[in-house]
Amino acid sequence: MKIICIGRNYVDHIKESNHAIPASPVFFLKPDTSLLIRNRPFYLPSFSREIHHEIELVMKICKVGKNIQKKFAATYFNEIGIGIDLTARDLQETAKNKGLPWTIAKGFDQSAPIGKFLPISTFSDLMDINFHLELNEKTVQHGNSGMMVFPFDEIISYISQYMTLRTGDLIFTGTPSGVGPITKGDKLEAYIGEEKLLTCQVK
Ligand code: MG
Repeated sequence: MKIICIGRNYVDHIKESNHAIPASPVFFLKPDTSLLIRNRPFYLPSFSREIHHEIELVMKICKVGKNIQKKFAATYFNEIGIGIDLTARDLQETAKNKGLPWTIAKGFDQSAPIGKFLPISTFSDLMDINFHLELNEKTVQHGNSGMMVFPFDEIISYISQYMTLRTGDLIFTGTPSGVGPITKGDKLEAYIGEEKLLTCQVK
């Protein structure tokens, strides 16, 4: 399976990171070795001094597809969950400044904690899903799927022009504003609506 992540998909986060709103979705990959499951702890790596949290809604792909038309995109994912796109911001800045790929800043081990997934039938409106992240029991990021620059169907349609989507692939759909550093001893808790779906202790 592969993990595809959308960057720059919420206007408030695009502004806080001083970027322009993209004309088409920006995406990158994390390897399957970046997954962190079952609420396991995250161990701060020695190669970065600035790991940031980015809370994101995550789509789970349920069938194989290529060149998927937007009008059929909704049939290609059947679950939505919450994940954290952990980012080595210092390494990312260095890479960006040199015009190099972001891979080491985004694809390291454990950089993709994911929580429990919910069937899409759980949601009355996919374009009105509230989610938030608590850091040590204080809300630091909150978003709503309606605020995405590129909604779920556009993301699927766009990516599938370039890469075949397969059952089990995950798509992180971008983070709202409020990204920031994590330190040893922190507790991250991620929610969709009022339901806590992910806990991650930073060690
Ligand atoms: Mg992200």
